[in-house]
Amino acid sequence: MANKIEDLKAKKDGLAVKAEIEYFAQIGWEAIDEDDLQHRLKWLGIFFRKTTPGKFMVRMRIPHGLVTSEQMLVMANVLERCGSDGVADITTRQNLQMRGIKIEDVPQMLSDFHGCGLTSVQSAMDNVRNITGSPVAGLDPDEIYDTRDLVLAVQNMITNHGEGNPEFTNLPRKFNIAIDGSRDNATHAEINDIAFVPAFQGEDFGFNILVGGFFSSRRVAAAVPLNAWAKPDQVVAICRGILEIFRDHGSRENRQKARLMYLIDDWGIEKFRQMLEDRLGYSLSAAAEQDLFTSHKQDHIGVHRQKQAGYSYVGLQIPVGRMYAHEMRELARLAQFYGSGEMRLTVEQNLIIAHVPDQNLPSLLAEPILERFPASPSFLVRGLVSCTGAQFCPVAIVETKNRSLELIQQLESDLSLTHPVRLHWSGCPNSCGQPQVADIGFIGCKARKNGKVVDGVDIYMGGKVGKDAHLGECVLEKVPCEDLREIVGNLLIQHFGAVPKKQLASV
Ligand code: SF4
Repeated sequence: MANKIEDLKAKKDGLAVKAEIEYFAQIGWEAIDEDDLQHRLKWLGIFFRKTTPGKFMVRMRIPHGLVTSEQMLVMANVLERCGSDGVADITTRQNLQMRGIKIEDVPQMLSDFHGCGLTSVQSAMDNVRNITGSPVAGLDPDEIYDTRDLVLAVQNMITNHGEGNPEFTNLPRKFNIAIDGSRDNATHAEINDIAFVPAFQGEDFGFNILVGGFFSSRRVAAAVPLNAWAKPDQVVAICRGILEIFRDHGSRENRQKARLMYLIDDWGIEKFRQMLEDRLGYSLSAAAEQDLFTSHKQDHIGVHRQKQAGYSYVGLQIPVGRMYAHEMRELARLAQFYGSGEMRLTVEQNLIIAHVPDQNLPSLLAEPILERFPASPSFLVRGLVSCTGAQFCPVAIVETKNRSLELIQQLESDLSLTHPVRLHWSGCPNSCGQPQVADIGFIGCKARKNGKVVDGVDIYMGGKVGKDAHLGECVLEKVPCEDLREIVGNLLIQHFGAVPKKQLASV
């Protein structure tokens, strides 16, 4: 039997609300049909939020995390219209989410997006999410292949160049794609439904293909090899083929068991591969023996030489990914004034200013906003990632962004470290903060302390990123948040070489 969301989609396609958006703006949010309000608007990337009724969240599509200063200014303008409610978050898919938007402002907002090449279409519900690639594609001297055109081509196929594409607006569930041409697994390939991983076959460049990776509250699965290798010009067709298979054969009964991996479990990887070959009309090459992920994962913070002589990119740490309109405006100015106007968002929720000529570096690094968004942050802030959490997310169990920043301040006043440690927070088991890829990951839950129910976390460790990436596992359950200063402090001492400052002072 179909579930509620399947019924809703069968009654009216999500994308149908595109034609009604002017009408919604006129009648106001309280008069919008409940299914359109709560669900279908998400096909345009517009989220009704129970925690802030009437103030919507908008999730963009920023393929590859590439943003121009003009686009950043357009998004800053959107937030400015929201007054003090306006806030933007960089996400772990190199994307941007904005909060505080009123429905009456949405038609103008969508028109402004259209005017500068931005779109928010098909960014939520049962659609393909933002497509990720190395944030330093085209800049990185060690890059193997510049994937920017490929990522855009896949997005254009899926969204009909941002106009919306009914072919792919009714998948059984959400879907993630990463296309990586770096040496350091910049996209966390293993957690995507489809990942293209760089690999040579003889002299020819192409990608090994992984399938089925995902996080959910019920199950976490790393992507598995399809035993297939593809040249770049096959990538769009392969994405199309896999999406069509998922759309036509994926389970639609139980949303908890609807991600691509369940279909792969059901069929086995051999049948899945055969079905893809049938769609493509040709046989796929076997995977290359070795992929080209050879280095430790970079976080791209700080000043780095580009492949273009005389230019650098500068990675700025955006604490927990949060920015306000005036800050976005200032970052756009810096990118324009000191660079070429180009910025990149990273899966660590940070921002890169690209194409900075050598002579501009000292002045850029002396800009006041770099005190808030530093190019050389402390080791714990540097590795911090946090999902939205209870401040805005209706399914969160605990608050994350403010709590994680406060914990880091405490730990930094207690301990000295000599290298970054990656701490990732998720406010519930949906794992949007990707705690399983962290050195220390936190998933919100309820815990007990002194007979009372309090905010808590399950703690994960052992996530490895970059070459030979694998997912971390739960090591401590239901730890009360109020005990984290001591418990995480001890983990940092035991496993990451941290030294208590008191001990240092007494030496
Ligand atoms: Fe919300 Fe949970 Fe995702 Fe955090 S992990 S943003 S709390 S759904």
